[in-house]
Amino acid sequence: MRDLRVSVTDRCNFRCLYCLPETEEAANFYRSRFDPVKNPNPLQKIEHLWKPRDELLSFEEIERVVRIAVSVGIEKIRLTGGEPLLRKDVERLVRRLAAIPGVKDLAMTTNGFLFKSKGEILRAAGLQRVSFSLDSLSPENFRKMTGRDGLSEVLEGIDLARSLQFEAVKINAVVIQGINDHEIESLAEFALRKGMVMRYIEFMPLDSQKVWMRDLVVPGRQILERLRARFDLVPVHSDNPSETAQRWRPRSGAGEIGIIAPVTQPFCGHCNRIRLTADGKIRTCLFSIGEHDIKGMLRGGGRDSDLESRLRDIVGVKEDRHHIGEPEFQQPARSMSCIGG
Ligand code: SAM
Ligand code: SF4
Repeated sequence: MRDLRVSVTDRCNFRCLYCLPETEEAANFYRSRFDPVKNPNPLQKIEHLWKPRDELLSFEEIERVVRIAVSVGIEKIRLTGGEPLLRKDVERLVRRLAAIPGVKDLAMTTNGFLFKSKGEILRAAGLQRVSFSLDSLSPENFRKMTGRDGLSEVLEGIDLARSLQFEAVKINAVVIQGINDHEIESLAEFALRKGMVMRYIEFMPLDSQKVWMRDLVVPGRQILERLRARFDLVPVHSDNPSETAQRWRPRSGAGEIGIIAPVTQPFCGHCNRIRLTADGKIRTCLFSIGEHDIKGMLRGGGRDSDLESRLRDIVGVKEDRHHIGEPEFQQPARSMSCIGG
């Protein structure tokens, strides 16, 4: 294991249709896809049960877990959530993690809505790379996808990030059949024009209301075919065997395209990632049914050596692969926003 994803909060200011689908527009979209007799009302009214704040790990606790994880081989840290920029003073955490010897890469995934007010301070604190989620370039479709009017804020955040000389600024889009699949080419144009990396992610069964359907997944191969029809792309060979994306770049010009296809072309065999949830559980797979608590040890006087051997034991039971599409597949109880994507 080399890569630890740290969720710093389970809260979010967006309601993405593929993660926390709760808006009337999301309900209408799913209603149009579901059998109206069997499932007239696919989305339920959700009472949000965010974890009480004292159940979330403090910055000191996160720093301790990261330090121990690094001592046993973790090199890359990605801060995520929920929306990581909602965590008060998250830059203080970035500064602490950046100072840990052995952290070779410190990144964040954000919806970007609040990035304008935080970008500079995060860069100064030692954040190296940032990935923005951007599923649509149309204000209307953006609202349908995310449940919020926020496209211009996100675009401003992306421009700010580019001006701050992060080591990489990437864009992630989850592609959903019938909602933003017509924007595949325009998203690539947008990113390539700015010399950025554009990554397309298959819709995974990790939404809060368990309304994922296979028919809504646009297979990575199809995304690639469409992009190759529009752009002259050449493969990018990576020396990282745990790379999740199939990478391509324009034959001439800057930028890159990545396709992440965990549903139709799983890459479990070389996965080197584990996750720490905001409430102190280790997850060995996005699709794990069980979680491994470490908050008890952190708060119960556990020594570093105890935590270290606990981490080793947990990694030892990491799943071989996910079972999406198989009869025994069980969607995890918690959504991507709680797991930390
Ligand atoms: N809120 C931040 C954001 O949206 O970038 C960080 C957390 S979000 C859970 C991390 C990533 O997970 C985002 O890129 C998002 O698009 C992706 N994601 C969320 N739900 C997903 C799903 N059901 N399938 C595929 N990707 C998903
Ligand atoms: Fe959207 Fe990220 Fe919030 Fe999920 S956690 S609803 S993907 S912004």
